[in-house]
Amino acid sequence: MKISIFWHRRDLRFQDNAGLAAALQSGHPVLPLFIYDQTILEKLPRDDARLTFIFDHVERLADETHEAGGGFVARFGKVPEVFTQLLEDYDVAAIYTNEDYEPYATERDTAVAKLAEKAGAEFKAFKDQVIFAKDEILTKNGKPSKVFGAYSKAWQARVKPEDFKPRPSQRLFKKENLATLKAGDKKRPTLKDLGFERHEQLTPPARLPDADVVKHYDKTRDFPADNKGTTHRSVHLRFGTISIRQIMQQAQELNNKLLNEMIWRDFFMMLLWHYPNTSYEAYDPKMRHLPYRDDPEQYQAWTEGRTGYPLVDAGMRQLNQSGYMHNRARIAAAGFLVKQLFMDWKIGEHYFSEKLIDYDMSNNIGNWQWMAGTGAVAAPWFRIYSPESQLKQYDPDYKYVKQWVPEFGTDDYPAPIVDHKFGRDRALDLIRKGRK
Ligand SMILES: Cc1cc2nc3c(=O)[nH]c(=O)nc-3n(C[C@H](O)[C@H](O)[C@H](O)COP(=O)(O)OP(=O)(O)OC[C@H]3O[C@@H](n4cnc5c(N)ncnc54)[C@H](O)[C@@H]3O)c2cc1C
Repeated sequence: MKISIFWHRRDLRFQDNAGLAAALQSGHPVLPLFIYDQTILEKLPRDDARLTFIFDHVERLADETHEAGGGFVARFGKVPEVFTQLLEDYDVAAIYTNEDYEPYATERDTAVAKLAEKAGAEFKAFKDQVIFAKDEILTKNGKPSKVFGAYSKAWQARVKPEDFKPRPSQRLFKKENLATLKAGDKKRPTLKDLGFERHEQLTPPARLPDADVVKHYDKTRDFPADNKGTTHRSVHLRFGTISIRQIMQQAQELNNKLLNEMIWRDFFMMLLWHYPNTSYEAYDPKMRHLPYRDDPEQYQAWTEGRTGYPLVDAGMRQLNQSGYMHNRARIAAAGFLVKQLFMDWKIGEHYFSEKLIDYDMSNNIGNWQWMAGTGAVAAPWFRIYSPESQLKQYDPDYKYVKQWVPEFGTDDYPAPIVDHKFGRDRALDLIRKGRK
């Protein structure tokens, strides 16, 4: 019997899933699939916390499929090889999935679409992880917007209730719409089979944030000591364990500031899709040859949270210990590396990419380039935040600092590794000289 495959990637949920809903209406029984992609996995440390997160959610999906009376496939390997085998093992009418806008994913999906075509199957990808993608919001001249304010305004003018309407995947997820497994797929790879160790990090539950948190968000979001000041849903938005439509609808109803922050997500994904080269170079060609400094000792101090700047250090230690960092601290830590230390934003971006449980290429690159003044949208290169005034403003009682830097205020806490004014003047001078 012909089947449809639904390939999960950044959408580890059955509820309100656009591609899955389409697959379940395809007229063929659906086989949900997850591939542990060898190309991605081989670059990760063996105790990567994200892999444990993904693994647990894949296992949950597999259990839920089993309970509904169907089979769930999880395989490990290089994606084209896995699909070549699947297309031999099953009689596949179509592969359904949700769009992924990162450069590697775009190439990978083109290769899978070609394999499907060769095997006489269709390849169908749906928009699911953003409200507006690709070319849906352009300037009057038909170009991708580089001004976030204008993009956000156009986004908000365009959005309609249908854009938030849940897709009926959960309702259709029942035995008569699901396929059964071939014997070889009954066993799924364990973390050990994949070559990884368990590393659990505390993550919030995969449900919408409390209405109270959302209602007060605009007043509380900047204070890192306030654990309820932001939604903490970034990991779920990254892996699609909650629906972007539902969380954005909640924000639209309760707090426009939060909606606007989430529109940044659509914006950065749109930019990365248009400019995949920004994953490895400055968007602004004038800023591609800056004479960045190389100082392994200072870099090490930054990674370990020993710079002598409390907000930077608290942020880096929160990152190292929990896989998460408050946005204010991300701003302070990133700003310090690219300006006061004048090091290449790419090394900071890379460090965050290894540690953040919510690491999202488009958000991380977009924000790092913003901080470095090299991006499509960017803080003016001559604006340099002072980590000390940020501390006074956002953690005046040192609550956040004391939580992560217990030796703060004692002789064990290091003196600043660079004087702010000296670092700032040096950065301004080097940017002036290096800008083309
Ligand atoms: C240098 C730097 C690197 C960053 N790297 C990442 C990253 O890899 N992954 C990531 O998801 N966010 C990143 N951010 C954005 C932001 O810091 C996090 O999204 C936020 O701290 C996550 O916590 P939250 O879910 O409580 O956010 P909330 O404040 O509750 O916001 C809700 C959601 O809106 C989105 N959002 C909020 N702020 C931003 C923003 N500035 N840019 C894009 N989306 C935003 C996120 O999806 C977030 O989960 C980075 C910011 C900086 C300054």
